[in-house]
Amino acid sequence: MDPLSYVKQEPYKLYIDGEFVASDSKETFDVVNPVNNQPFAKAYKGRTTDLEKAISAARRAFDEGPWGRMSAKERSKLLLKAGKLLAARAEEFAVIETLECGKLYMSALYYEAQMAVDAFEYFAGKARCLEGKVVPCDAGHLNYVLWQPCGVVGEILPWNGPFMMGCQKVSAILAAGNTVVIKPSSWASLSMMLLAEVFHDAGFPAGVVNVVTGSGAEIGDALVKSPLVDMVSMTGGTETGKNIIGVSKDTVKDIALELGGKSPNIVFDDVDVDDVVKWAKFGFTLNSGQVCVSGTRLILHKNIYEEFLAKLKTECESFIPGDGFDYMKGVNFSTLISKSHAESVWKYIESGKKAGARLITGGERYTDPDLQKGNFVPPTVFADVTPDMAIFQEEIFGPVLCVTPFETEEEALAIANGTEYGLAGGVFSNNIKRALRVAERIKGGQIYVNTYFSKAMIESPGTGWKQSGIGVAGIHKYMISKTVFVDLIDGSLPPV
Ligand code: NAD
Repeated sequence: MDPLSYVKQEPYKLYIDGEFVASDSKETFDVVNPVNNQPFAKAYKGRTTDLEKAISAARRAFDEGPWGRMSAKERSKLLLKAGKLLAARAEEFAVIETLECGKLYMSALYYEAQMAVDAFEYFAGKARCLEGKVVPCDAGHLNYVLWQPCGVVGEILPWNGPFMMGCQKVSAILAAGNTVVIKPSSWASLSMMLLAEVFHDAGFPAGVVNVVTGSGAEIGDALVKSPLVDMVSMTGGTETGKNIIGVSKDTVKDIALELGGKSPNIVFDDVDVDDVVKWAKFGFTLNSGQVCVSGTRLILHKNIYEEFLAKLKTECESFIPGDGFDYMKGVNFSTLISKSHAESVWKYIESGKKAGARLITGGERYTDPDLQKGNFVPPTVFADVTPDMAIFQEEIFGPVLCVTPFETEEEALAIANGTEYGLAGGVFSNNIKRALRVAERIKGGQIYVNTYFSKAMIESPGTGWKQSGIGVAGIHKYMISKTVFVDLIDGSLPPV
């Protein structure tokens, strides 16, 4: 298979009001493969005028178009059709995602593409089950609650899983009955530009889905500020989220933020060390550590500390780094998204060394000239990390694990909950009472017990606690409730 044969020769276009268009300025940007930092495609760069057209189209489609009057059943059918079209193009999407984000192709094809299709199927069903409730009330009165779409939703996406995440979010937004303007990350725009073709071919009415590329500071900011956008959902870093909170105050619009993490993974001394070493490794190296819920702080019982670290070192050193398409050569570890992001990870590695953390493995640049062309950072494990160190407190978003020893359950929990983040966490113990007790007390929205990473992610979405986010994930994030109070008795004014 030649991955480049899937790439369009002309620049990828914006999708506005049912049409694939160049940006008003005709400005393009290079799309770069992070494995070698070589450009392999071009895409049009959106500016504010393009965004304004997209927002007006989404507004019209919601307020006046057929979408707003469609039944949930009709919306559901369109989503199912889009899911089928996407499934037929899974290979193409997986190739583009691998090229643009430096992913492992097998994972992009057999995990992310499958999850993306599944999202369409799941939310197509969900669209038909958005029930409200009747609230018990005085005789002669009826009080019922409806869930309605927010209206025009701005969906701002990060670069670390744009295809799968984009499909999950956009299918939920549409199932709820909203229209959407998607703003992908500048590092990873192609999958959403391609996804527009799927909506187009499935027959979604013009303006229901729009895709505008461009910088966060311009396009993202303008989406949040626009009085024509009813709700903004952003997945990205905590600093960006704080910015959005500030900017959204002028329109008091609904916002939902899925932000950064620094998730603890607590391992007690009653586990099978060989087994849990593999989970700990998986927890911080998946997608080269560029996963929001990665288990990047290993809180390890003192009784198994050195044995566990020695085995983890061996495991980490068995990775074969390289181009994600080279699965036949055994490549199972890929690159970071960009040079600048890799440099930020290297700064943290240097800061860990300076702070006196004990380097167990990694921490030095690859010397292979092929790997040096890309943004590779080896799996890096620091032991004896203390809560005062920046590498303990701050999200690194790369394959860097900080290990801290503990003796008692209380101590483990204090270490686990000792950062400003609250996204996820793990606990490993064969004592199920203890494992569940600890799971209950970790401050985070997704907790894994004797496993790492979620199964049935769409059905049971997580929520960011503390500075990891605002809003409960899932379809209701994109909906707004309305209570209707009905008087069933003619002319019965209250006696006041
Ligand atoms: P980022 O914050 O740099 O960018 C996210 C998006 O916000 C991009 O599309 C960007 O262009 C846009 N943006 C930037 N500045 C903006 C502004 N002023 N106004 C509006 N939009 C703006 O994040 P990233 O580097 O793309 O992604 C990595 C981060 O995302 C990590 O912190 C990771 O933990 C987080 N993340 C969280 C989740 C979750 O579910 N909680 C999932 C994936 C990634």
